[in-house]
Amino acid sequence: MISFGPVPSRRLGMSLGINNIVAPKTCSYSCIYCQVGKTKTVSITRESFYEPEVIFKKVRQHLKKLEKDKYPDYITFVSNGEPTLDINLGRSISLLKSIGIPVAVISNASLLFDESVRHDLNLADWVSLKMDAADNTTWLKVNRPSLKLNFEKHIENIFLFSSEYSGKLYTETMIIKGFNDTAGNFSGLAEMITKIIPDKAYLSIPTRPPAEKSAKTPDTDKLNLAWQIFNNRDINTELLTGFEGTNTGSTGNIYEDILNITAVHPLREDTMAELLEKDNANQQVVDSLIKQKLIRSVLYKGNKFYIREYHLNI
Ligand code: SF4
Repeated sequence: MISFGPVPSRRLGMSLGINNIVAPKTCSYSCIYCQVGKTKTVSITRESFYEPEVIFKKVRQHLKKLEKDKYPDYITFVSNGEPTLDINLGRSISLLKSIGIPVAVISNASLLFDESVRHDLNLADWVSLKMDAADNTTWLKVNRPSLKLNFEKHIENIFLFSSEYSGKLYTETMIIKGFNDTAGNFSGLAEMITKIIPDKAYLSIPTRPPAEKSAKTPDTDKLNLAWQIFNNRDINTELLTGFEGTNTGSTGNIYEDILNITAVHPLREDTMAELLEKDNANQQVVDSLIKQKLIRSVLYKGNKFYIREYHLNI
């Protein structure tokens, strides 16, 4: 199937997905946590999959079947592999943009050494770049890249693309227990990401069965640690943990407010107290959410924070 959805996405609103890579899965990485299974063909060479006119026709047919209130906010390339391996990506983006819906691409960023890839991504309105590792060893363990790729050049090319790109730029870091959940990796990533200046940096955890059983969700404390390190570097950071939280403040429903905010970022004890006061509530609400295992408290540099609790059996 070339197009699917639209599916609700916190990052993109309603998103109509495009899979521009013909099966079997073709990617320049073979991430241990990949949610579309193991990479069948490891490649860093662009090739032709679908003709852009075919993608365009399929999307127009798909859109015609949708009711007005289901119309997507974005058309998103999120593929069975790495979307930039498609040599026709730029032409497809240009055709799709003529529909009048912004186009997003979720990429692993490993092909940015290729000028034609940077050119094609420049046509998109919204680009997300994968950044899981701050050093070569971690990169090899987590992303298992094609042996033709080089870590230092890969990072340089991310810097180069971010300096050229004028659309909305995001980074996404998947945190895997025991693989890339150290303070050192988080600090190294934060250092790089401050140079990219993305609109937002997302921190995510596996929420679907991973390619390798060894890819486990990190401890809540580690997720909090990552957020604190990024936030201390003034990076606009949000958590993506499978809960559709929002950043909005008080709505009057204290339970919803706490769950929404802690799904997106840890809430410091004093901010929690302010929120409770605003909603005329008290600590009992927090204790009850902890008891129900919906949130938990974590300590960071002597301060108590509350963060959404996740229980994933993958
Ligand atoms: S880059 Fe994406 S598609 Fe490729 S292996 Fe990693 S998670 Fe899977």
